[in-house]
Amino acid sequence: MPTSSVATEFTGISPRPRDKTQHRIAIVGAGASGIVCARELKKRGWSHVTVFERSHEAGGKTRSTILNDSATGRQAIAELGTYCIMPSAVVQEIIEDNGLADDIVNHRPIQYYDIARNKASSPLFSTDDSRPFWKKLAEFLRYSQETSRLALSQKPGFAAPFAPELLWSVDEWLTRNDFEFVRKAMFPLFCTTFGGPGFKDIPTLYLMKYEGLRRRLPMWRRATATLPRMRLGNQEIWKRAARALDIRYGEPVQSIGREQDALRLHTPTGASTFDSVIWTTSLPFLDAALPPERNADDSTLGARRFYRQVRQLKRAVLTYRVENLPRDVAWIFPDVSLAGALGESYGVKNWPGTDCYSFYPWMNEGHTLDDLDRSMRNLVTRLGGRVTSTVGSPFVSGYHPYFDAKTLESGAYDSLESEQGRGGVYLCGEIMSGILLPSTTEYARNLIERFF
Ligand SMILES: Cc1cc2nc3c(=O)[nH]c(=O)nc-3n(C[C@H](O)[C@H](O)[C@H](O)COP(=O)(O)OP(=O)(O)OC[C@H]3O[C@@H](n4cnc5c(N)ncnc54)[C@H](O)[C@@H]3O)c2cc1C
Repeated sequence: MPTSSVATEFTGISPRPRDKTQHRIAIVGAGASGIVCARELKKRGWSHVTVFERSHEAGGKTRSTILNDSATGRQAIAELGTYCIMPSAVVQEIIEDNGLADDIVNHRPIQYYDIARNKASSPLFSTDDSRPFWKKLAEFLRYSQETSRLALSQKPGFAAPFAPELLWSVDEWLTRNDFEFVRKAMFPLFCTTFGGPGFKDIPTLYLMKYEGLRRRLPMWRRATATLPRMRLGNQEIWKRAARALDIRYGEPVQSIGREQDALRLHTPTGASTFDSVIWTTSLPFLDAALPPERNADDSTLGARRFYRQVRQLKRAVLTYRVENLPRDVAWIFPDVSLAGALGESYGVKNWPGTDCYSFYPWMNEGHTLDDLDRSMRNLVTRLGGRVTSTVGSPFVSGYHPYFDAKTLESGAYDSLESEQGRGGVYLCGEIMSGILLPSTTEYARNLIERFF
C-alpha cells in the first residue's frame, strides 16, 4: 500500500528565531532555483545571502550561446538547455523586473519528421493511426479528463492528492488506459522533453507534473506546438537577475562540515561559515559533500538515505554547420534508432538565419561523445544533408532526476520534506520540484516562504 508521500502538506523543521541582519545563508548553485531563492531572501530583508556557483556564469541548465556562422556572416542565439519558457508567474515577474517583457518571441512550431516518408508534419496529424477521427477525438477527451484529474500543476513540488496510478510507469499508465492514439501522437514529444529512453521506468507522477505545466499553455500553443522563448536567449533572464545578487562564480562547494550550530562550506579558495545552506543541485553530490552520518540509525531512518536513490537521465546538445537541409526547422524524430545513440525520439533545431543545427540526443553511461557525433552525422546523411563543421563544444547535462516507484512508495518525498532545515540544510532544485522552469522557480519561492 503506498504511503501518503505525495499527499502531505509539508512543514519541515520549525526554524529557530533568526535575526535577518545576522543569519548567514549560503545557496549552492546559481541556476534558476538558486537565483529565485536569493532574490526572494533579499526581497524579505535577509542581508547575508551568498550564492556559490561552480561555473563562471549564472543560469545553470538555461544555457544560451551566440553562434557566429562564418558561411552566412550571421549571428544567432542557440539554446543548449532550457528551450522554451513555459508560463510561470515567478519567471514572468523576473522577466518584467529586468526589462525583458518585450523580448518574448516564438520558436518555430515543432514538427515530427518521418524519415521513411521524408515528411514533416504537426504532432497531431503525423500518426498513421487509421481509426476514424471521432474515435481519436474521444480518446483525446478521455486523456484530457484523466490528466486534469491527476495533473500536479497547482502546488509546488510533489505535495498533491495521491492516486495509485501516479506510481505506475508512464508506459503502463498509457497501456492500462488504452491511450494508443495519444501514445502515437504525443509520445515522441513526451520522450523528447522529459522521459527520454527511461520512460518505461519513470513514474506517472512526473509526467503529471509536466502535463500540469503543459496545460498552462494557451490551447493554440499546445495544438500547434509553438513555444515561447527570449529573443536575447533564455539565459538572459538569469544573467540579469544575477546582477543584483552576491554570487561567487568559479567556486564549487566541495564539502560541508559542521561546527557547533554552524555549517562550514569548503571551496577551492577556502572555507566560510554559514547558519543555513540551501542546496539546489544534485542530491548524490550533497551526500558526498556532507560528513558521514554518525550512526547507522541516522542513515537508515533519516531522509538522507534517499539522497543516494536519485536516478537520472543524461543528454547532450551537439551543434553542427550543415548544408542542404531546410532552414528554420524544429523537428522531433519519432522512433529513430541510430547506432551509437539511444533510440526513442529526440529533437533537432536550426537556428534562424544560419546553417547551424543543434541536436539533442540522449545518452547513457556507455556512450561517448564520439558515438553521438557519429550518430548525428549519420542522421544528417539520411536526411540528405552534409555536415561541414562542428560548432562549439557539446553541452552535456544530467537530465530529469527522479525516484523510481519503489522509492516513492517508501515515502521519499514525505521524508525529504519533513526534514527540510534539519541541521540547517534545505533542499531545492529539480529532484524536489520536477523539471522545467515553472516547477523549479515556484518551488524555490515556496521554500523561502515556508522557512524564511
Ligand atoms: C537540454 C535541456 C533542455 C531543457 N528544456 C527546457 C525547456 O524547454 N523549458 C524548461 O522550462 N526547462 C527546460 N529544461 C530544464 C530546465 O533547464 C531546468 O529544470 C532548470 O534550469 C533547473 O534549474 P535549477 O537551478 O534547479 O538547476 P540547474 O540549472 O542545474 O542549476 C544548478 C547550478 O548549480 C551549480 N552547481 C552544481 N554543483 C555545484 C557545486 N558543488 N557548487 C556550486 N555550484 C554548483 C551548477 O553549475 C548550476 O549552475 C531543459 C534542460 C536541458 C538540460
